[in-house]
Amino acid sequence: MTTTTNMSTTPSMSTNMPSIPGLRLPRPSVRDLVPYEATEPTAAIMLSANEAPETLPDEVLRELKAGLSDFAWRKYPDPLARQLRALIAEANGLEDEQVLLGNGGDELILDLFLAWGGKDRCFLNLPPTFSLYEIYAHTTETRTVALPRDRETFAVAVDATAARLSAGDIDLCIVANPNNPSGNMSAEDELQRLLETSNALICVDEAYFEFSRRTMRPWLDRYPNLAILRTFSKAFSLAGLRLGYILASPEVIATLAKVRMPYSVNAFSQWVGRVAYAHANLFEPRIRAIVEQRDWLYTQLDAIPTVEVWPSEANYLLFRTTNAHRVAQRLLQDYDICIRDFSRAAYLTDCLRVTVGTPAQNEAFLQALRSIV
Ligand code: PMP
Repeated sequence: MTTTTNMSTTPSMSTNMPSIPGLRLPRPSVRDLVPYEATEPTAAIMLSANEAPETLPDEVLRELKAGLSDFAWRKYPDPLARQLRALIAEANGLEDEQVLLGNGGDELILDLFLAWGGKDRCFLNLPPTFSLYEIYAHTTETRTVALPRDRETFAVAVDATAARLSAGDIDLCIVANPNNPSGNMSAEDELQRLLETSNALICVDEAYFEFSRRTMRPWLDRYPNLAILRTFSKAFSLAGLRLGYILASPEVIATLAKVRMPYSVNAFSQWVGRVAYAHANLFEPRIRAIVEQRDWLYTQLDAIPTVEVWPSEANYLLFRTTNAHRVAQRLLQDYDICIRDFSRAAYLTDCLRVTVGTPAQNEAFLQALRSIV
């Protein structure tokens, strides 16, 4: 097991479980685990979690309000969320059996580890990336092999990754595309190369696909070892609902269905997901606005001499500045603005990540940052 790349905001928090008389200790691999992102501070302007800046469109809210009293609260949900699954399958030109809904993308990532990871199994991680991958590797006692991305560009080291995959012992690899927190993407042909190099299950995590508008979907028919992860949490303004989905071959989906919690996607989430997805067109102008704001924010950050910012294809920007930890603290204390502090995380020294908010929020953030740095 490699050491856990801790990207939580509270890296120094000790979670070693003390021995308590009368209580048996949990599994050794759980004892020293650091939980994912302990609660963040609340601030007037929250730009830390890559959430959408606006709530659901009025039309969606109206439809939900109108349907509330007839909603089948007392009934168990359909375990496979078949109605929503059919909508997603149709929109992606796939069979229903190629889609699996989950309680957020997070649950589906855990399912990947439950099915393809575990004792004597090997996960290939490409840090710095979404920290949950390594946490779930740890909880499922999956051995992690880490191949760091390029220190300057955060590009996947394709040659090294392909070479490592060709050794034949990797069971699962997850490539966040765009990568979180760096915002960059791997090219389609690079991902194809990884898919062709071994039979390891390769999950391309497209949580921010609506902002990048690039997907590996066209390659699902060609590669049986490709799985694509998406979420309703970002572009669909539904992080609070907990809804995500995987697109893959029927065999991969059937395998994940074996390990998942049968009722993890509750009936309310299924219904809200259906209403939102059926109105996907209403989210388009919002997505365009975020992309425009992101590119504007990039230019503005790039113009600050003490800031180094990376181009992003998602709804956030990673930047580096001296004394980053102090900068994040001052943004919070003096300006009531919360962004994500990665300054002490591995590979991300002095890096901070800001989520693209409303134009007013972005302006307030920039002004505050300019006066601090
Ligand atoms: N993948 C990536 C890269 C993410 O950044 C996130 C959210 N932080 C997820 C997956 C999971 O999102 P959710 O569980 O909200 O669907």
